[in-house]
Amino acid sequence: MTIHAYAAQEIGGKLEPFEYNPGSLNGEEVEIDVEYCGICHSDLSMLDNEWQMSQYPFVPGHEVVGKIAAVGDRVENFRVGQTVGLGWFANSCMKCEWCSTGDNNLCADGEGTIVGRHGGFADKVRAHAGWVFPLPDNIDPAKAGPLFCGGITVFSPIVQFDVKPTDRVAVIGVGGLGHLAIQFLKAWGCEVTAFSTSPEKEDEARKLGASHFINVKEEGALEAVASRFDFIISTVSADLDWVSYINALRPKGRLHIVGVAPNPLSFGVFPLLAGQKQVSASPTGSPHTIEQMLDFTARHGIETMTEMFPMSEVNAAMDRLRNGKPRYRIVLQR
Ligand SMILES: [Zn+2]
Ligand SMILES: [Zn+2]
Repeated sequence: MTIHAYAAQEIGGKLEPFEYNPGSLNGEEVEIDVEYCGICHSDLSMLDNEWQMSQYPFVPGHEVVGKIAAVGDRVENFRVGQTVGLGWFANSCMKCEWCSTGDNNLCADGEGTIVGRHGGFADKVRAHAGWVFPLPDNIDPAKAGPLFCGGITVFSPIVQFDVKPTDRVAVIGVGGLGHLAIQFLKAWGCEVTAFSTSPEKEDEARKLGASHFINVKEEGALEAVASRFDFIISTVSADLDWVSYINALRPKGRLHIVGVAPNPLSFGVFPLLAGQKQVSASPTGSPHTIEQMLDFTARHGIETMTEMFPMSEVNAAMDRLRNGKPRYRIVLQR
């Protein structure tokens, strides 16, 4: 059989039609007929080999929604035709300490859907059945792709670090991840503040659930919220004024980072020490947390805001992400 995909042949290259033969289906894998695939900033980073782990030809795409096309002979929990999603991970060892206690996203042998594998900018993609998830009926498949990477990346820390409904929280960045983080935290019960450098996003941030909007470009904006927050999540891939954000935490507060800042972080120990504060980071989420997120999303009517491109216009879509700042997540439709 042949899978028809879009691949770059070199670092930063244009995506062009590319065919490959995936071989026979592994007994524990499923094959998905791709219907939609979101575009994540990591697809761009991997296309550009920013993390020195890309292989070419490179097929991006790790926010897949589609229908099960085939199941391996040891897969019992999926049937052909079922609508499912697939995110950053396509496999993990399933037997290490982390996999066997449900933290499969921390497995040292985890396989990214686009790392040493061909991703979802294609008519079909394969993954271990343990990393594929049924989509609840009342989530729109056309908008669901971004939940499987962007969504779980901001949902998982809420669970991992026990964010409480009584907490005052803040989201740095109203973008692909941030617009979902605001909705999750609002539905969780928290009072949510949005930090942004784009004042024109204020109305939308408030509609998504932010009670407060702070334009961090304004002089003194961060100083004005000193000792305010229990939890701040940074969703932006930029170097920030880390010291001011740490100062914006209450004692025992946490600054949590899911956006990959280009440079090492720099801040003194004393502000952390005096307030018993924490700085942390996390990668996507575990299979069980993905299931919780899907259930929570369906129950609270949380919706990804998307711009749709046909998959045949994948290069235009990638350029829009690179230059145009989409509102808020681009999804390719096959
Ligand atoms: Zn991603
Ligand atoms: Zn493992």
